[in-house]
Amino acid sequence: MSWLWPEYIDQDLGLSHQQRKAIHRDAWKLWSQNKKNILLYLTVPIVYLALIPFASDLGGRMASMLGAAGTLHVIARAASPVLLAAGCFVIGGSVLQRYRFAPCVYQTLQEHGHDVCERCGFWLKGLPTEIEKCPECGTARKSRP
Ligand SMILES: [Zn+2]
Repeated sequence: MSWLWPEYIDQDLGLSHQQRKAIHRDAWKLWSQNKKNILLYLTVPIVYLALIPFASDLGGRMASMLGAAGTLHVIARAASPVLLAAGCFVIGGSVLQRYRFAPCVYQTLQEHGHDVCERCGFWLKGLPTEIEKCPECGTARKSRP
């Protein structure tokens, strides 16, 4: 399941389970300070609820087009909202995690003294200081104290 709910912490950092948990806790704190995040995450269930009536209709229509009738038609109508939920929450959830939560993790890692790229989480430790950009994504490196 880690592809669905990745940790965003580079395995090479060698953090213990406790440290990872502490970083995630701080990252969520950082995340919740930005009210925009909460609104964005709320749009997922709202979009889902708004699309439910269309999902059943679409499922029913598609079943008819495929020649399904009777029970099969009923099943198609019933299954559509479930598929819609999976689509909304899995796709919407992972996109939001990637673009809204992951940067909080990277920033928290930096605050904990780990030299990681704030955009993609690439581990920058050991790179010569002349290298001013992340080799992975090209984001300017934050100067370390
Ligand atoms: Zn990067």
